[in-house]
Amino acid sequence: MSGARPLAILGGTFDPIHHGHLRAAWEAAETLDAEVRLVPARTPPHRPPPVADAAGRVALLRAALSGQDRLGIDTRELDRDGPSYTVDTLASLRADIGPDRPLVLLVGSDAFAGLASWHLWQELFTFAHIGVLTRPGAAYEPSGALAGFVADRWAERVHGPAGSVIDIAITPLDIAATAIRESFAAGNEPRFLLPTACFDDEALLAPYRALGR
Ligand code: ATP
Repeated sequence: MSGARPLAILGGTFDPIHHGHLRAAWEAAETLDAEVRLVPARTPPHRPPPVADAAGRVALLRAALSGQDRLGIDTRELDRDGPSYTVDTLASLRADIGPDRPLVLLVGSDAFAGLASWHLWQELFTFAHIGVLTRPGAAYEPSGALAGFVADRWAERVHGPAGSVIDIAITPLDIAATAIRESFAAGNEPRFLLPTACFDDEALLAPYRALGR
């Protein structure tokens, strides 16, 4: 591994953050011995708008991350206009950390399978490694253009600043924000799928509770 500790990012809507995200980020931090930042998206391309606004999702992230310092938040996508293209986020991070520090883009295996549909997807590898998180029930084997492109990029561990694909096995937790929103919409309290701290302040989950009214 080249000198500096890797920086890894996990992007997502986090609408809301839950233990699936948090365990994946935590286990990636331990496996890669990395600093991991959660990067909330402002305008996710091809998706309906989030239930909670950006400030609300960040407040939930802060509550969820309290009491530890291995996982952080990076709000740069919220400060940018337009769609949150990952390639722009990686370019911006690379400019911040310099050319040598390893940078890892963490993606679920389902997202990885569809990587070739991302904006300027091949350029992602010039800025970062891709860390593929194993998620239950998700397609894993890349196909088509992606399969050919990554065939000789698989690596056991982070080596150099960018360009590899690293498989990161994580404890399967079949939790999704969609199911959490559905639970709120049905008038339930989906406790223990997301941190207790998120329930401590009544206002934090109010946008989701409103789905049930
Ligand atoms: P939604 O149900 O609204 O689509 P989600 O729970 O899948 O949301 P996202 O914000 O879309 O959450 O996910 C952000 C990132 O976290 C993605 O890379 C996704 O693959 C990953 N992720 C989400 N849930 C899990 C989980 N249970 N285990 C591992 N990774 C996860």
